[in-house]
Amino acid sequence: MGKGTASFGKHGRSKTHIVCRRCGRRSYNVSKGYCAACGFGKSRRIRRYSWQNKKFNRIRIV
Ligand SMILES: [Zn+2]
Repeated sequence: MGKGTASFGKHGRSKTHIVCRRCGRRSYNVSKGYCAACGFGKSRRIRRYSWQNKKFNRIRIV
């Protein structure tokens, strides 16, 4: 079993994301080792895009 649709049936057993220590969201992927929300662990810069309107640390960045 790889990481495709078949393996996602087992996703509920263990935690995939833990609380990120940079952004505080529960978006830090344990197995991948980076945060899905802010990109912590992957890049030094905060993961942000021009098309997104997301609050980071409860402060809106436009
Ligand atoms: Zn984060």
